[in-house]
Amino acid sequence: MRKHYIAGNWKMNMTPSEGAAFAKELVSALKGSTTKVMIAPPFVTIPAVVEAVKGSSIIVAAQNMSDNLNGAFTGEVSALMLKDLGVNTVILGHSERRSLYGETDQFINKKVLLALSQEMDVDLCIGETLSEREGGKLEEVLTRQVTEGLKGVSEQQMKRITLAYEPVWAIGTGKTATPEDADAAHAFIRSLIAKLYTKGVAEELIIQYGGSVKASNAKALMSKEHIDGALVGGASLSVEQFLPIVNFDK
Ligand code: PEP
Repeated sequence: MRKHYIAGNWKMNMTPSEGAAFAKELVSALKGSTTKVMIAPPFVTIPAVVEAVKGSSIIVAAQNMSDNLNGAFTGEVSALMLKDLGVNTVILGHSERRSLYGETDQFINKKVLLALSQEMDVDLCIGETLSEREGGKLEEVLTRQVTEGLKGVSEQQMKRITLAYEPVWAIGTGKTATPEDADAAHAFIRSLIAKLYTKGVAEELIIQYGGSVKASNAKALMSKEHIDGALVGGASLSVEQFLPIVNFDK
């Protein structure tokens, strides 16, 4: 039985003081909740948020990290630095990293392996563009992103992997994949994992959906067999909008 996992990607929003205020409000709103919840602030906001969620079960993640552990890499932030802050989870391969910063499957894979070597959990984002979907390339793109992104990841390490299926055309656009279309993509990804690993690994894998998730569509999406949670962008920026998504089953 997979447990739902709801994550908020703040992107480049929330100063340290705004993030701390949000986190305190979320902690008190989620008192008694057993849902697995993660928030991913910008790097500089992480320490304030880590402090604000202390004593709660909310996971604080990074939105990205360097493909190196240390050295002459101006402007980068490493897994060692994140771990020193108490951050053990990282989002990798977000479509904005792929499209705006040229991150390739090979580069993302290097980061995935580095994060796992540091015993960090990884939320690996995958998903097709509109032209890929319309060109009938959905399965080809997902196969490439999953196979390349997870190259060298052992069956044991798969326990640390969450996948986030985020069709690029649905991110920040207000367009959501229908629950049926999203579920079909998730089922395909799960069957792929069963082929690459085992049926058991595939059954246990959490696959989040991302792309304009909001209070009004969260329940329909997460009621689907293969949709095990959400990676939320815009609607994770206020407790008022994020809370009903976390509490979609209440
Ligand atoms: C995201 O940033 O991963 C995302 C899904 O954004 P939004 O919810 O705003 O579409």
